[in-house]
Amino acid sequence: MATDYKTLAGQEFDRSAFESLMKRKNFYWQSFEPHGPVKGLFDYGHPLATLEAQFLSIWRDHFVRKERMQELKCAMITPYNVFKTSGHVDKFADFMCKDPKTGEILRADHLIKDVLEARLKSDKEARGEKVEEAVDDPTKKKKKVKASKGAVKLDDEVRKEYEFLLATLDDYTGEDMGALVKKHDIRSPITGNEVEPPVSVNLMFQTQIGATGKEPAFLRPETAQGQFLSFQHLLEYNDGKMPFASASIGYSFRNELSPRSGLLRVREFLMAEIEHYVDPESGKQHSGFKKVRDYKLPLLSRTVQQEGGSTPTFITIGEAVDSKLVDNETLGYFIARIAMFMERIGVDPTKMRFRQHMQNEMAHYAADCWDCELQTSYGWVECVGCADRSAYDLSVHMKATGVPLNVRESLKEPYRVEEWQAQLDKKKAGPIFKKDASKVQAALDSLTQDFREKLSLSLKKDGEVEVEVADVEGGKVKLNKDVVSIQKESRLITTREYIPNVIEPSFGIGRILYSLMEHAYWTREGDAARSVMSFKPTVAPIKVLLVPLQKDARFTPVVESLEEQLDDRGISYDTDSSGVSIGKRYARNDELGIPCGITVDYQSLEDGTFTLRDRDTTKQVRAKAEDILDAVEKMTLGRWTWADVQAKLPAFEGKEEEPKAE
Ligand code: AMP
Repeated sequence: MATDYKTLAGQEFDRSAFESLMKRKNFYWQSFEPHGPVKGLFDYGHPLATLEAQFLSIWRDHFVRKERMQELKCAMITPYNVFKTSGHVDKFADFMCKDPKTGEILRADHLIKDVLEARLKSDKEARGEKVEEAVDDPTKKKKKVKASKGAVKLDDEVRKEYEFLLATLDDYTGEDMGALVKKHDIRSPITGNEVEPPVSVNLMFQTQIGATGKEPAFLRPETAQGQFLSFQHLLEYNDGKMPFASASIGYSFRNELSPRSGLLRVREFLMAEIEHYVDPESGKQHSGFKKVRDYKLPLLSRTVQQEGGSTPTFITIGEAVDSKLVDNETLGYFIARIAMFMERIGVDPTKMRFRQHMQNEMAHYAADCWDCELQTSYGWVECVGCADRSAYDLSVHMKATGVPLNVRESLKEPYRVEEWQAQLDKKKAGPIFKKDASKVQAALDSLTQDFREKLSLSLKKDGEVEVEVADVEGGKVKLNKDVVSIQKESRLITTREYIPNVIEPSFGIGRILYSLMEHAYWTREGDAARSVMSFKPTVAPIKVLLVPLQKDARFTPVVESLEEQLDDRGISYDTDSSGVSIGKRYARNDELGIPCGITVDYQSLEDGTFTLRDRDTTKQVRAKAEDILDAVEKMTLGRWTWADVQAKLPAFEGKEEEPKAE
C-alpha cells in the first residue's frame, strides 16, 4: 500500500527492500543474535560503524572546533545522588498501561496513538477514502488490531476529535492520558482487553558500585549531568570567561518500555550533547547570531500544534527570534547551526523541520525547547532536542552539594551598599550552641533584609529574638543581645555571583544515522533491484571503488599502485577484482554508497589514464591518475562536487554495462 513517504528520487519507499539492503550489506543487526535477539540492542557492521565515525568527525569539526567548545569524556556509571538531585530518579519516566490479563506493558501514548489511528483508518475505509499504510512498527502487522475488524464509520465530530487528539497528544500528562483511555474505551490492540490506568515507570538502568550494595548507581540516561558537575573545571580552563560551551560524545542508556522502529528507539545509544553556559543577564545574546540571522528554516510553533495543525512556517531565524517565537538568540543560533549541520551531512532538507515543545512536554524549568525532527518511513522522528534549561541543573547540584557551580565576576566598578548584618558573637555563642553554632549563623545569613530589620527592632525592644533553625532541637533558638548583633553596615561590593543558564542541543546519533540512510536510499529508474545509497562523498563510509576491467595479471601492479596512492592520501577504498561484469560490480557497491569508482582498463596500461565514475549519475571522466586522485580527494573533503569534476576533466563516453545484460 502507498505511503506519502518517498525516496530521494521521488519513488514509493519500500521499507522491506531497504531493510533487506541494510541486512545484505551488513549495516546493522540485532545484538547477540545466536542467543536470541534482545529488543532495543543493535550491533553496527563496518559500513554503519564507519558512517558513524565520519559523522562524528564532521560533528566535532562543525561544533567543537568551529565554536571552540571544550570536549569532555565523562563517566557513564553515575552515583544515585546525582540523578536524585537532577530529578531523574523521580521524573525520568514514561507512562505505561498494563493489560491485567496478559501482564503485557503498553506505553500509554503509543497505545492511544495506535488505537486512534486504527479507528481513523477504519473510518476512512468505511467512507471509501484512500487509506495510507500505517507508518509504524512492521512487527505490529502480525498482531491483529481487533477494532478494525470490518470498517467502522465514525461520527464527523468523533473523527475531528480523534484527529485533534493525535495532533496534541504530546501535551498530555499521565492523568490526561488516563482520562482519554477511559473516555474513548481504549483497549489493548493485541488482546482487546481493557487496560489499567497509566502509571509512571522509571527508564533508568539501576546498578551498584562495588560489592557491598551500599552505593546504588545508574547507567546515565544522558551525558549532561557529568558536564554540569565538571563546571568549575571548565570555567577555570576558560580563565573564568563567559559564555562558553562544553561538548561530550558518549553512550547513554534508557530502559525503553517498548523499543521499536529499528534503530529509532533503542536501549543503548550514542549521544552528542552540547552545554552552552550563558549569563542570564546578557539577554542570552550570541556573538555569532548575525552570521545565521538570514538562514531560513521550517518552524512548527506550539500555537499551530495547539490548534491541531502540523504545517511549519518557513521563516528566517532572525525573524523567529525578533518575534519571540524562539525565546532568545543563543537558542536560535543553535537551531540554525543544527540545520546547517544536517545539510552538511546530507539530510534531505525537505524531510527536516523544527518543532516547538508543547507546554506540558517541556520540563517545568525549561524556558523554551525545539526538536529537530527528521521525516522517515516511520513518520517524523525527534533527532535533536534543543532546550533552554535555564539555571536548573547547576542550581540543584550546587544546593545539594554546597559546592559552588556558579560564576564569580570582579566588578569593573565596585559599589557600596547599606545592609542589615546579623552576626553571632562567636566567643559567647560557641559554649551555648556548641556544634550547632554554624547552623544558627547560616540561618541568620539566609534571612531577608526586611526580616533582619524587624529582628533588630525586637532585639532593641525585648532584649532577645527567636529565630528558626532547621536541624536543631525544637527547630528554633532564642538569641539575646549579648550573643547576636543586628545592625546596618556599609559594605563594598567588588564581585557579582550568578548561576549560568544552559542552552543544550542534544543529538541522538543512531536516529540521525538511520534517517540519513533512509534519505540517501533510492533505486535506479526501471530497475527496483538496483538500489543506491547516495551518501555525500564527505560522509560515505568508503570513498573509492577500484575495479580492474577483467581478471588479467597485467592490471595487478597498476591497481596496487593506485591503492598505494590512495593510502598515501588517507582515502578509504575497496578493490573489487571479482570476475563479474563492471556494471554488476558497480551496482553491488552502489548499495554501500561508494561515491567514486575508478576503472583500470587496457587504455590505462598504455597511457596511464583512468576513468572516474560518479555513483549518482553514472557519468564518467577520464584523466591521468594524479588528476583523478586529486578530484577524488577534493570531493571527499567537500571542496568539489561532481559538477566541478566534470567542468575540469574530460568526459568519457564509454557506456556502463548494465547488470541485467550479464
Ligand atoms: P532527550 O534527552 O529525551 O531529549 O533525547 C535526546 C536525543 O536522544 C533525542 O533527540 C534522540 O535523538 C535521542 N534518543 C532519545 N531516546 C532514544 C532512544 N530510546 N533511542 C535512540 N535515540 C534516542
